[in-house]
Amino acid sequence: MTAGPAGPEENKGQPGLVSAALSGLCPRCGARTLFEGPAQLADECSACGLDILALERGGRFVGVVTMLLALALILAALGVDEWLRPPLWASFLFWAPVTIASVIGTLRFYKTMWVYHQYEESQQP
Ligand SMILES: [Zn+2]
Repeated sequence: MTAGPAGPEENKGQPGLVSAALSGLCPRCGARTLFEGPAQLADECSACGLDILALERGGRFVGVVTMLLALALILAALGVDEWLRPPLWASFLFWAPVTIASVIGTLRFYKTMWVYHQYEESQQP
């Protein structure tokens, strides 16, 4: 084992996936066209015409992931309730945005991963 001057650069997998999910980048041309709503995929890329709707097909279990996440958040909310016993309005004020942000964030990331995976599959010969 030899120690090179630079660190190992083997993690060349998909470094851009997080930023792609955050910005909604098209897997083909990199334009910010992947999402038309906060967690709603566009039908197709308005820059290069990539058929995103066709790539999304098969990703229907996204709903299950969302439900599991919502359930986990509700359980977490109940746990905090037991522990701190905050007033109801405080709970609501805290958990409503947290839940919405988590669900949207998870959906975005999950859908982006799915579309990118499907796109790579479709590029295979
Ligand atoms: Zn595109």
